[in-house]
Amino acid sequence: MENVAIFDAPGKGRGLKATKEFWAGDVIFAEPSVSAVAFDSIAERICHSCFRRQDKLQRCGQCKFAHYCDRTCQRAGWAEHKQECGAIKSYGKIPNENIRLVARIMWRLDKEGSVLSDMQLVTLEELEDHIPDMQEDDLKDLKVDIHNFLDYWPRTSKQHTIDDISHYFGVINCNGFSVSDQKGLQAVGVGLFPNLCLVNHDCWPNCTVILNHGNQSAVNTMFHSQRRIELRSLGKIEEGEELTVSYVDFLNLSEERRRLLKTQYFFDCTCEHCKNHIKDDLKLAGVEVDGVKPTEEQVKEATDYCYQMLEKMDSARLNGNYHEVVKLCTACIEKTEPVLANTHIYQLRIWSTLSEVQAYLQYFCEAAEYARKMVEGYLKLYHPNNAALGMAAMRAGVTHWQAGEIEVGHGMVCKAYAILMVTHGPTHPITKDLEAMRMQTEMELRMFKQNEYVYHSMRDAALKNKPMAMMHEPKSVDEGVKNLFHRRK
Ligand SMILES: [Zn+2]
Ligand SMILES: [Zn+2]
Ligand SMILES: [Zn+2]
Repeated sequence: MENVAIFDAPGKGRGLKATKEFWAGDVIFAEPSVSAVAFDSIAERICHSCFRRQDKLQRCGQCKFAHYCDRTCQRAGWAEHKQECGAIKSYGKIPNENIRLVARIMWRLDKEGSVLSDMQLVTLEELEDHIPDMQEDDLKDLKVDIHNFLDYWPRTSKQHTIDDISHYFGVINCNGFSVSDQKGLQAVGVGLFPNLCLVNHDCWPNCTVILNHGNQSAVNTMFHSQRRIELRSLGKIEEGEELTVSYVDFLNLSEERRRLLKTQYFFDCTCEHCKNHIKDDLKLAGVEVDGVKPTEEQVKEATDYCYQMLEKMDSARLNGNYHEVVKLCTACIEKTEPVLANTHIYQLRIWSTLSEVQAYLQYFCEAAEYARKMVEGYLKLYHPNNAALGMAAMRAGVTHWQAGEIEVGHGMVCKAYAILMVTHGPTHPITKDLEAMRMQTEMELRMFKQNEYVYHSMRDAALKNKPMAMMHEPKSVDEGVKNLFHRRK
């Protein structure tokens, strides 16, 4: 770990600083997980070894709980699953994800000791558990988990004190990292990455963290785990500068971000963006039309209306009632678009949902229009190398391509590619998809400029083959991956 050093970050406690200069897209460090588990809710739909979403999975014949792509993944996951498998069989039921994760971590520590690789900067004992800061309700849940853990933990495994066990529950409560599927589109599990736990938060950070599953499952047999995170630099970082990531989405107002950070991570954010409420005004702004601004009253009324509609829209979406979602969004937009700015965060959420649902319903022209508006708003709010901005540009690129607007489509795809090269890196599956898209749209754009007729007939054929189908059903991506750490349930 020659790139970073632990230091006392003023007012924050322990932190990490750069020991040399970095540039946008540099990998500052990569780190495998100590362990990770699939969420309870999705445990039958993802591979417990490589975390890929898969339609056909094979069940572990012993416990009937663990699922794998194939024998290769099962073999690769056996070291992690072996003790769990026996414990589940004798426990007779499936413990929740927190209990499964703590147990996996503890089995691994019992076997290998507290330093699992020479890159590890802290032992797991040294990580913060924040148990003294926990609210009463959370403490109650913690007690229930510990109680169930004790029933689940086999007598034949090494026995630990309640304090030790609580410590690991506390650690995963504030440091359990959301593990996404192979494309990074959906959070599917939770894992622990000790070095990452040392990187402090800033609402306008200089780094981002991305999970990269590696390429083929065959590789898994050689390493204990291919679930690796990379800490990547978002811009120039000076030697000695503190390294930060954002634990929450910047699209929240500063007050809301501070509330989230306090309840989940137990600290008061004192970053520049919180202290000075930077961009809060934009996030609730009215739109100026021909030099006329709406009154404060009008903006407030539109904001409240939007908020109500968002609630209705979310429930319609979760029920899979997509035509209702379109109806609600369209009604809302009609009323609020003349009043609210394109940086207004509720309006952005309406556009985001509408474009997603319309793309799913194959109304590509409308989907493209709202995806583009969303990107325009995001550009004024997010850091230029924010991953969420990159993903939004990608979506806008794909929907414009689908709508036959190849010039804007290609431009958006290029924009997305430039951002994801920094935030995800060239080997990430989604960057590779984007690269293929970029080549395709570039070729089509050339063709379009030469001969529009040939272009359109070729595109119709391409659409039928759906080479760029990447539209999930909107309700399945709801969990998203906007929060860095997984909130323990
Ligand atoms: Zn697998
Ligand atoms: Zn099993
Ligand atoms: Zn902040």
